[in-house]
Amino acid sequence: MGCRTRAAADGLLRVVAVDGVLIPDPRRRLPGRGAWLHPDPECLGRAERRSAFPRALRVPGPLDVTEVRSHLQPGCSTSGTESGTRETPESVNHGSKVDPS
Ligand SMILES: [Zn+2]
Repeated sequence: MGCRTRAAADGLLRVVAVDGVLIPDPRRRLPGRGAWLHPDPECLGRAERRSAFPRALRVPGPLDVTEVRSHLQPGCSTSGTESGTRETPESVNHGSKVDPS
């Protein structure tokens, strides 16, 4: 939608407007009029600059795209999440059960 590139529907993210907020609807279950967007932050930015969402969704005024942006950029809200080495000691817990024998 933002870049006017035609793509298969299954490659697009459905978004809907709820109370002036643009909500990502990856499962396509939300009711109402939806717009289709490439799952790409640049495509979102282009559509936002063109006010394409209010036009496509037939709603007045600008829409808050924060939800969709964070959906497209998981982990971008906080910096320094590149090294996500989180230790999950599942194997370590193996022998730590209380053995009443
Ligand atoms: Zn696009």
